[in-house]
Amino acid sequence: MTRLILATRNPGKITELRAILADAGLPHELVGTDVYPEVPDVKETGVTFAENALLKAHALARATGLPAVADDSGLCVDVLGGAPGIFSARWSGRHGDDEANLRLLLAQLSDIADEHRAAHFACAAALALPDGTERVVEGRLHGVLRREPTGTNGFGYDPILQPEGERRTCAELSPEEKNAISHRGKAFRALVPVVRELLG
Ligand code: IMP
Repeated sequence: MTRLILATRNPGKITELRAILADAGLPHELVGTDVYPEVPDVKETGVTFAENALLKAHALARATGLPAVADDSGLCVDVLGGAPGIFSARWSGRHGDDEANLRLLLAQLSDIADEHRAAHFACAAALALPDGTERVVEGRLHGVLRREPTGTNGFGYDPILQPEGERRTCAELSPEEKNAISHRGKAFRALVPVVRELLG
C-alpha cells in the first residue's frame, strides 16, 4: 500500500482527507507530519494559495521520500480585490489571532452595503512526488459577509461567512455540513483523480 503524507498536524484535516480517499476506494495510507517530527516547517513565501501549497508539498516529499499533499487556504473578499487572501491568518498583524483578524475585517467593511459583501473561501491542494512531479487543484465556497459574528463552530472567519443558499453562517453548520460544501472539501475531492493518475 502506498503511504501518502499530508502537510498538517491538524487531526481534523487528516480525518477529512482520509475519509475522502476511502470513499473513492483509494487504498492509500494517509499520515500527517506528526509521524515525521524531524521534518522542518516550510516558510510560506509564495504569493498565491497554489504556490504555497506546492512549496509545502514539494518540501515534504523531498524530506520524507513520500508522495505529499499540502493545502493552503484563506478568505477572499470581492470589494477588497481578493484580500485578505494569502494574508488571512495574519490580517491583523498577529499570526493566528482569529478574533482580531475577523474584527479588523468587519471594521474595514462597515460602510459596505449588503449587496457588495460577496466573498469566498479558497483552497489550493497540491500533490508532489519525490521526483518533482506536481499537480495542484482548487476549491471555493462562495457566500456573503455578515455584519456581526454568529455561531460557535469552526474557526477563523467561519462566524461571518454565510454560504450561498444558506441562512446560517459557516460557524452554525455542523462539521459534516461544512465539509460537504467547503473549499477544502472540494479541493480534497478534486485530488482523488490526481492521486489515481499519479499513484494508481
Ligand atoms: P490555512 O491555510 O488552512 O492555515 O488557513 C489560513 C487562514 O485562512 C486561517 O487562519 C483562517 O483565517 C482562514 N481560513 C481558511 N479556511 C477557513 C475556513 O474554512 N473557515 C474560516 N477561516 C478559514
